[in-house]
Parts: sequence; structure tokens; C-alpha cells
Amino acid sequence: SDIKSGSVTFPRYVRVNKLKATTEEIVKVLQKELGKGDNKKENSKDIYVDPHVPDLLVLSPKSSIAWHELDIVKEGKIILQDKSSCFSALALAHGSASSVEGDVIDACAAPGNKTSHVASLLYDQKKGSKSNKKCKVLGFDRSSARLTILKNRMSELAPLVGDDMATVRKSKFPVAICPTHQDFLKADPSDKMFKDVQSILLDPSCSGSGIVNQPDRLGESSKEKDNERIESLSNFQLLALEHAMSFSKVDRIVYSTCSVHQRENEDVVAAAMQEANEEIEDESNVWTLVAPVGLKDWKRRGIKNDDLTEDQSNCLIRVNGLDGDETNGFFVSYFERKKVVDANKG
Ligand code: SAM
Repeated sequence: SDIKSGSVTFPRYVRVNKLKATTEEIVKVLQKELGKGDNKKENSKDIYVDPHVPDLLVLSPKSSIAWHELDIVKEGKIILQDKSSCFSALALAHGSASSVEGDVIDACAAPGNKTSHVASLLYDQKKGSKSNKKCKVLGFDRSSARLTILKNRMSELAPLVGDDMATVRKSKFPVAICPTHQDFLKADPSDKMFKDVQSILLDPSCSGSGIVNQPDRLGESSKEKDNERIESLSNFQLLALEHAMSFSKVDRIVYSTCSVHQRENEDVVAAAMQEANEEIEDESNVWTLVAPVGLKDWKRRGIKNDDLTEDQSNCLIRVNGLDGDETNGFFVSYFERKKVVDANKG
């Protein structure tokens, strides 16, 4: 597909970091900013809450705000994050009606937009519940340079960041982010560090073919090279998803990419499910695709491939920035491990 990048303009999306601020507080600041200078003439003072992502504010692309001078940016109270990239954490935290239990691994975390979003949504859930159980969001990256970026960014965005478990335990804050230098493929599911992990967010390296509002990220490479690259990415993505499915206590997984290629999306999902559920015995736990509750109103769904039923592809979320979705192309799948009882028995 010939995707022309850099040609599309989307609204300005502003995610409220619930770890540090409330929506009301942020709306007040932004309204004041929009009241200054040229914005008055532009008639672009409207701010609304995104209909799909409740902690995302939407401003006109015409609204000109000197974002990097704003205190709420410097203090990490807001994140300028594109809408579709908020779908991964939303699907993990609001995939089902029940709230997330236990720790979370963000398997490919840097620079950490989704890590901090997961932490923000979990904090929101914990504030409203009676349980005072703490949880950790383990943000992995295999690149030490990228891990440094992750660590620095997380210290700006979260009140509790670190790998010193004694400090994490002592703190009253209920959600800790732990940036960890780790190749996810080499993370041992039986390591006691992961004993409380019940959810995994997997947003691995991908072709980025969905990004259409930035200068062409694929560069000048030939079609053949692109195909080779997509095949190699798809192989890695499948290994990573299969590895996520091998954590025996994990019962929720989100797999997402900012690619629009079926090889990186539906094909990976179908192959991983086949592999993971190959030898299903009665009463065994089976990885199942579930339509994320928090995205039930999103219309664009997965592409049907030979290995997915219609119901399964309808569980998948697709975003196409070139077809009116007003945000970059994206793909999200949400899995739950569920007990199935053999229908032939009983
Ligand atoms: N989820 C991130 C966010 O929203 O800010 C973006 C992740 S980016 C698409 C992919 C990241 O995965 C890169 O930082 C890369 O270094 C890391 N990565 C690639 N392979 C990995 C592996 N095997 N284990 C851990 N991290 C990996």
C-alpha cells in the first residue's frame, strides 16, 4: 500500500495524567491559555473530552498554545499523546468490566507513554476501590539507551518510580512504575520477580506504517526491503506474543502496533492463538480474543483472515488515519485466559 505520510492533520490530543492532576484542573488551565492572543479570533476555544478515551482532551488543530512553556507540561500533568496510542492501556485497564489485579508488565516500554497511561488508569481504579493492595508496572526495554529515556520520562510523570523494592513497599502511593533493563523474550516466567504479574501489555517494535501525520518514517527503502523488514518484524512480534501467553498466572494481554499491515496484526494474533491453544484439554485455560469493553463504540474492526472467525476479527480494533479516524493508524487486540468446558461432556 502506498501510504503518503505527513499529509494529514489531526486534532490536538492532550492526555490528563491522573497520577498528578485532575481533568477539571487541566481544562481550567487550557481554557485560560486558549483565551489568550490569536486563539480568540480563531474560534478554536472548544475543549471536549474524547468520546472513546475518557482521560483524553481534544482541542482544535488550530489552537496555538506554546505547549513547552506550560507548567502543566513541565510538571508532567499532561502528555501530548495521539488518540489511538491511548487505546492499548485503555484496552488493558478497561478490557473487561472487572478491574485489573496484580502487577503489569509493559514488555516493550520506552519511551513510556503507555507505561504511564497504564499506571494512571490503575491508580484511578485503585482510588475508587476499598482494597489498599499496591501494584507495580514493570516497564521493560532491552536497549539501555532507551531505558534511560524511559527512566527519565517516568520520573517526570509518576510519583513513585524505581527498582528499589523496599522504597516501593514503604511508599503509600498505590502504583509504582519500575523501569527494568530486560529483553522481554528472555524474561523467565518462573522468576519470582514476576510472581504477581497478571497482565501484559505488548506494544513491540513495528513498521510504524500507521503513522500518517509525521514525515515519512519508512524513508527511501525499496518495496522488497520493506517486505523483508515486515516479515522480520512479524516473526519477532509473534515470538513476543507467544512468550507473553506462556506466563502461567497472566490472564490479560494487550497486543498493539502502530502498523496497518495485516502481517503485523491479524496474522500475528491468529498464529499466536493457534500455537497457544494447540493442545486444549477439558477445563484448561484458553486464550480468547475479547472485544475490549472500553472500546465497544469504536466502529473499525479487524480484517478477516483465513484463520480468524468473524466474531474474532470483530473483537480486534483497527484505526485508519487516512480514512477519517482523526488519529494515526493503529491496531489493538485484547486477550483473556478463560476456562472452557468441553461442550461434548456433561
Ligand atoms: N510502548 C512504547 C510507548 O508507547 O511509549 C513504545 C514502544 S516502541 C514501539 C518499541 C520498544 O521496544 C523500543 O524501545 C525497543 O527498544 C523495545 N524492544 C524491542 N525489542 C525488545 C525486546 N525483545 N524486549 C524488550 N524491549 C524491546
